[in-house]
Amino acid sequence: MMVSTYTLDYARQLDEKDTLHAFRDEFYLKPDSIYMDGNSLGLLSKRAERTLLESLADWKEHGIDGWTQGKQPWFFLSEELGAKMAHLVGAASDEVIVTGSTTVNLHQLVATFYKPVGTRTKILADELTFPTDIYALQSQLHTHGLDPQTHLVRVKSRDGRFLEEDDIIEAMTDEIALIILPTVLYRSGQILDMKRLTEEAHKRGIMIGFDGCHSIGAIPHSFGEWDVDFAYWCNYKHLNGGPGAVGGLYVNRKHFGTMPGLAGWFGSSKEKQFDMEHTLTQADSAGAYQIGTPNVLSCAPLIGSLEIFMEAGIDNIRGKSLKINQYLIDLVEHELKDMGFFIGTPREDSRRGGHVSLEHKEAARICKALKDNGVIPDFRAPNIIRLAPVALYTSYAEVWEVVQILKKIMTEKQYEKYKNEREVVA
Ligand SMILES: *Cc1c(COP(=O)(O)O)cnc(C)c1O
Repeated sequence: MMVSTYTLDYARQLDEKDTLHAFRDEFYLKPDSIYMDGNSLGLLSKRAERTLLESLADWKEHGIDGWTQGKQPWFFLSEELGAKMAHLVGAASDEVIVTGSTTVNLHQLVATFYKPVGTRTKILADELTFPTDIYALQSQLHTHGLDPQTHLVRVKSRDGRFLEEDDIIEAMTDEIALIILPTVLYRSGQILDMKRLTEEAHKRGIMIGFDGCHSIGAIPHSFGEWDVDFAYWCNYKHLNGGPGAVGGLYVNRKHFGTMPGLAGWFGSSKEKQFDMEHTLTQADSAGAYQIGTPNVLSCAPLIGSLEIFMEAGIDNIRGKSLKINQYLIDLVEHELKDMGFFIGTPREDSRRGGHVSLEHKEAARICKALKDNGVIPDFRAPNIIRLAPVALYTSYAEVWEVVQILKKIMTEKQYEKYKNEREVVA
């Protein structure tokens, strides 16, 4: 039977056809709420819970020997998780390591690869990037005695939402030593053309690294094929590794052997680490850019979570993600016409990441009304409601429901009950 695209029956038909639908049962979803914030903090899966408990059990059972014994020996965990994650970024298994956090890894990679010489001394970033990246770059410039006012160049956005690759390329002058850009912009969800940008950077003799926080686990990458120099990301958003999960970094193998800017004993070659020498023999892998002892309990959920990604397949995840995000956009355009919403996300599949950004001048209080109606969105000041239908655990029926709730909030002006300002954690 043909049913109209905008009905709940149609949404249910899409769910029945969804080959990833079964993964939904693997996650802890609340029966009376719809989670649309998996791009900020992914939900707990039963497998991630299991592997965390297994690591605790290893500690209980083995004490110090848990480093080399037990279900998942901790001494090799960062390397093993890196290898399991490598397919998600299109890298070889020894080019990825699970370590640190986004911000710490950015510091490490800039300390390692930013080498101002002669007149080539500047770092190129963009004005829409996440603040922590800017803070880290500013402080790295300070450690070189350079003024961020003159040495941190930020490519401008023409409309406050998107970046034009042409503008970025134009800013790649012979004064630029290093480029740091997001893979996916955290507000608008725009994907940058990493292949093209890397090619253009390299033509000009500039190194380039990417912040993959909003793309890891949501879209496939080919860092190796594109010849990206390095990248870093967090594992608690689309990868569902848990709050404060240990982050990840990628270093192109052509850079193996480059001395870590911030050295520590976990960057040693594994065989040499416990020789306790005062000369570092660095690992011949991305492992060299670890610093100290890994936070094992914040790595452990990733073991289970990555199993799910391996089984589901990142191309299938991307396929559903595009479809369910497009479905959300279609419903918004159909149901919320003339209610002041603007879709601040690229329309082309090739330029859209894993979330939809709805702009509205009352966004902060619409978000509060959504929460009181059992929908978990997130708000980005000043006017963005980010909604992330996640391929592994969001259903089409839920997306349908969210749009109906939004419609109700708008027609009943429910949002007027709330103040239009953000909460502490937005
Ligand atoms: C979430 C996010 C971060 C967070 O950095 P942490 O060090 O994990 O706190 C950094 N950059 C971007 C683009 C992000 O989306």
